[in-house]
Amino acid sequence: MAVWQQIEEALSRALGEPFTARERRPLGGGCINEAFRVQGRDRTLFIKLNSADGLEMFSAEAAGLAAILASASVRAPRPIAWGIAGGRSWLALECIAFAPSRSDSSALLGEQLAAMHRCTAQAFGWERDNTIGASPQYNTWTQDWAVFFRDQRIGRQLQLAREGGLAGDTLERLQHLQEAIPRLLDGHCPQPSLLHGDLWAGNWATTGDGCPVIFDPAVYYGDREADLAMTELFGGFDSSFYRAYRGAWPLQPGYATRKRLYNLYHVLNHFNLFGGSYASQARTLADRLLGELR
Ligand code: ADP
Repeated sequence: MAVWQQIEEALSRALGEPFTARERRPLGGGCINEAFRVQGRDRTLFIKLNSADGLEMFSAEAAGLAAILASASVRAPRPIAWGIAGGRSWLALECIAFAPSRSDSSALLGEQLAAMHRCTAQAFGWERDNTIGASPQYNTWTQDWAVFFRDQRIGRQLQLAREGGLAGDTLERLQHLQEAIPRLLDGHCPQPSLLHGDLWAGNWATTGDGCPVIFDPAVYYGDREADLAMTELFGGFDSSFYRAYRGAWPLQPGYATRKRLYNLYHVLNHFNLFGGSYASQARTLADRLLGELR
């Protein structure tokens, strides 16, 4: 098949030695891409495929994984190569053998995530835009966190929602909330921390020796509480994770309110990706946040 032949040729160039697949096994579990475990003679790779316009997304994912690896804090798959083959985009990563977590894996993840968050930048944003799920995520460097979150996070998602048909009272409330973000974050001055950016329970796992691994990131430098907020949005992280994180780096007063604001970004993104009841969930969050301003 032309696609795989071209991928193998590109991988051989990237690895500096011939790579030929002995076995290609499709994997489930992803939300966006087709994924395969591809076994060569000396190494096994994890390869994702998408349509040709997914190349930017894949190269940004590789850059995000490289940034996490450079922080030397949490394990993440090493990016190997990416490109276009037979009209499809592809990304090859080190394939990691996952196993059931051990009793101390969550606590280790908490500690290691705090260590990753200690990697900071001079401003909020990142060197490039990337994606959150299948939506664009804009990372224009910004000095002020409230301005960044208002314009690059809530503002961009609201724009998409408007284009997708969100209107009326719900849109008005959300726009009102967007304008209120500097007041909601008044007095909160986080450092720009390296974030995973899409840290739900489906984006971490453990190796056989209990070592946590994070993958499929939407990296940027932002308030570390945004990563923690997302772990709480869909659940799946146990109390030892939070205890270990807070033990390594306590959270600031007011987190409970900011958590709702930060998760509004993901709820709006879910509305833009999947529609349905996410609009009313966003509306409820906005009402609650606006209520707290009074
Ligand atoms: P998508 O981009 O489609 O959401 P993911 O990156 O989340 O795909 O990967 C899909 C699934 O494949 C994950 O849930 C995980 O179980 C597995 N996986 C992800 N990365 C690796 C890897 N480097 N090695 C082995 N398995 C992986």
